[in-house]
Amino acid sequence: MKDEKNKEKKQLDELNKGMEGTIEDWLGMNDPDVFIDYVCLECGCIDPVPDFIVDECSWGDEDGEEPTFFCPACNGTMVRKEKPRIE
Ligand SMILES: [Zn+2]
Repeated sequence: MKDEKNKEKKQLDELNKGMEGTIEDWLGMNDPDVFIDYVCLECGCIDPVPDFIVDECSWGDEDGEEPTFFCPACNGTMVRKEKPRIE
């Protein structure tokens, strides 16, 4: 009786593990590595930001401004590399 339950539980665990793996695989497949180059206005270093992070940050901007990030090297402002620099 006890063995039966353990066996059942083990099968469920394996099923869950299998499903987790599948979901991760799915996410991996649906999440191609797209990076947008951001360049620091202060020191000029380039830091690629995954595009889904840029998308998430864009949602809060009501005035349509592009999201900016902080430079990991000097804490300066980073802007999209393709965007012409405003002077
Ligand atoms: Zn910098």
